[in-house]
Amino acid sequence: MSTKRDFYEVLCVSRDATPEQIKKAFKKLAIANHPDRNPGDDEAIERFKAASEAYEVLSDENKRSRYDRYGHAGLSGFGGGSAGGGGFHDVNDIFDAFGDLFEGFGFGGGRRGGGGNRPRKGASLRTSIKVDLHEAASGCSRTLEIERNVQCTTCSGSGAKPGSSPEKCDYCGGHGKVVQSQGFFRVQTTCPACRGAGQVIHDKCSTCHGTGHTSQTDTLEVNVPAGIDDGMQLCLRGEGEAGQHGGPPGDLYVDVHLKPHKIFERRDKDLYCHVPITYTQAALGAELDVPTLSGPHNLTVPAGTQPNKQFRLKGLGMPDVHGRRTGDIVVEVQIEVPNKLTERQEELLRELAELEHKHVSPHRKTFFESVKDYFASFTTSDE
Ligand SMILES: [Zn+2]
Ligand SMILES: [Zn+2]
Repeated sequence: MSTKRDFYEVLCVSRDATPEQIKKAFKKLAIANHPDRNPGDDEAIERFKAASEAYEVLSDENKRSRYDRYGHAGLSGFGGGSAGGGGFHDVNDIFDAFGDLFEGFGFGGGRRGGGGNRPRKGASLRTSIKVDLHEAASGCSRTLEIERNVQCTTCSGSGAKPGSSPEKCDYCGGHGKVVQSQGFFRVQTTCPACRGAGQVIHDKCSTCHGTGHTSQTDTLEVNVPAGIDDGMQLCLRGEGEAGQHGGPPGDLYVDVHLKPHKIFERRDKDLYCHVPITYTQAALGAELDVPTLSGPHNLTVPAGTQPNKQFRLKGLGMPDVHGRRTGDIVVEVQIEVPNKLTERQEELLRELAELEHKHVSPHRKTFFESVKDYFASFTTSDE
């Protein structure tokens, strides 16, 4: 009674198409009509199902030859279904059957089988530490307290009570998947009895309640290499959570944050600092003690130094974390203007101003007096 489209027509291939051509044609259709790419489009899903159904038959040499000879009716013997019914019940069945074909196309791709009890790597963990500039310069070590899942010692990770062991799932025979007949198709689904694990635990370990792992707080030493910078990450291999079914443990990532320093501003491997000098030091030159990470350092400021002039102290900055060239300290001088003068200082500066023929404010006039003069200038100009 059913009217089904010809499978070759559905896949747009000729009757003598090679298995490669059939596979290629199906992939093309399945990707174009993939539910992830066509959300809410029922017609696309129908096309996706129809293509899968056609491919299910034409990709199987035996089924294909029966189909060629007897048409749709020739398939009634497969899976015990009727010729008219069948098809995949939902797209998940298709993913279970052909999911591998979609790998590498960036689809979320429905469910994947649990894969039985194959070894799985443990989850990675992440934490952070703060170091100050001196610790970053010389390297340091830190003690970390990490809460993580470790293999249960009572059951050695099996999840079964000591003396017993997990048993092979009867329902799926340990494969984690079962093949069910739906219509005239045989489709693979995750085993409902063991949820894909392939084994069942009758007597659960009382320590870990059958999970195979327990939570534990561990103390770890982490070595921070000299030259570490803000935002860098250290990786402690194998210090994450325990793996499953004999898989390796995950890793522990440590994010490093650098505390700000009072004097130095770090830019990569260089350390910048501002050093105030007086006008006379800048004009006449001076010997200064400037800060470094290992104490004061002599710096000669030559006569005639201009504001914001930078002096580079080679090799006194931060070490390189990979052992390359050490950075510098960059000293930028800032010329300070005194906000209070002694009588003698003022006398000398006035003398200097006269020498330079510069107009300066008259002696001892306060700011408020100057403001009064300023306003007074408006009334005089009106007259
Ligand atoms: Zn099972
Ligand atoms: Zn246990």
